[in-house]
Amino acid sequence: MYDVIVIGAGPTGSSAAKELASNGYRVLLVEKFKMPRNKSCSGILIKKSIDLVEQYFGEATPVYTQCTPTDHRGMIFTNDKGKEYRYEQEGLNIWRSSFDYWLAQKAVEAGAEFRDETVALSCIEHLKGIEVQLKGTMEYTEYAKFVIACDGVVGSIKRKLLNAPKNYITTYQTFNKGSIDLDDHYFYAYLQPQLSEYDAWFNVKDNYLILGVSVKDMRNIDYYYSQFLSYMEQHHNLKIEKQEQEEKWLIAHIMPGCPLEYGKGKVLFAGETAGFLNPMGEGISAGMESGYAAAKAIERYGLHNLNSDLEKIYSAYRSNTASLKSYMERQWNFVASMASTFEQFKL
Ligand SMILES: Cc1cc2nc3c(=O)[nH]c(=O)nc-3n(C[C@H](O)[C@H](O)[C@H](O)COP(=O)(O)OP(=O)(O)OC[C@H]3O[C@@H](n4cnc5c(N)ncnc54)[C@H](O)[C@@H]3O)c2cc1C
Repeated sequence: MYDVIVIGAGPTGSSAAKELASNGYRVLLVEKFKMPRNKSCSGILIKKSIDLVEQYFGEATPVYTQCTPTDHRGMIFTNDKGKEYRYEQEGLNIWRSSFDYWLAQKAVEAGAEFRDETVALSCIEHLKGIEVQLKGTMEYTEYAKFVIACDGVVGSIKRKLLNAPKNYITTYQTFNKGSIDLDDHYFYAYLQPQLSEYDAWFNVKDNYLILGVSVKDMRNIDYYYSQFLSYMEQHHNLKIEKQEQEEKWLIAHIMPGCPLEYGKGKVLFAGETAGFLNPMGEGISAGMESGYAAAKAIERYGLHNLNSDLEKIYSAYRSNTASLKSYMERQWNFVASMASTFEQFKL
């Protein structure tokens, strides 16, 4: 019987596993893919993420996880009227494959057991603990007193437990060789409704010009992507010599009021699984903060009298993440003030 099984080795899961293992809990961290695995992401660590890495993992983000230009300088938004807003903030440009793998290794160094290429299929609660059905090379079962589901937006654990509907935004981005007249130290977000159904973006990683659009209806990707390319050609002199890679992904479709699901029974939800995500995909810090907060809530009451302490653990988790929730709400409100596309988020 493990104390805690953490499902998903993204920033959320590794933060939770590292914190619990460091405090003597017997932790199993499971990850569906072989690590290092790809996670579609712009890979920008905002200042808050950089600080949380140091606080939770006790080290600075290693150089080998970074890509050029390593120093990220902020975001430039263009609103639905074409007006530009600049937000200068120091940050880092990283590849999620090596960054997430490094975080998982830190959890292992702290004492967590790690199994990649292992999918959690279901969590069934019994009086004495949770039966977690896993699938690696074959199907088998492990037991834990508590589970933290950090399986991200694509994960099925929450959907199965709550019978929750799918509520996604689809992201599509391409990696290109070519040229453009924008400063590669910034992330550019475009909120014009003619360019995407949510946002479109441009950033640079290791000399790749990355162009992306997000849509509510996947069938509209080609249309919006070609609209966005034409816009970038006209306004920023974009010239693509060769498209080398493309990827489609999902991101949680956050609703006004930023509703969160904290868990069901002895399965807590954290990170994108719970609905922690800031505007424009700033989800790494929200993931780490909520994963750590879930772990801290468990540590506060321990696992000895779980049945009677369960409500207290939930309440501690809610209160540990209350400032994160209001930060999210303020951030969405802020985006809503820039573009009418996000008007429904106005507080
Ligand atoms: C295109 C795009 C760009 C983005 N850019 C940024 C950015 O620049 N900065 C930023 O901060 N955020 C960004 N985000 C958001 C950020 O990527 C996510 O919010 C963040 O990764 C959430 O972390 P997580 O740990 O909750 O989930 P994830 O990182 O998705 O990790 C979940 C893990 O669980 C695993 N998993 C899923 N199901 C199971 C299962 N059943 N069993 C075992 N394992 C499972 C998955 O394989 C995955 O490794 C971006 C997102 C997208 C789509």
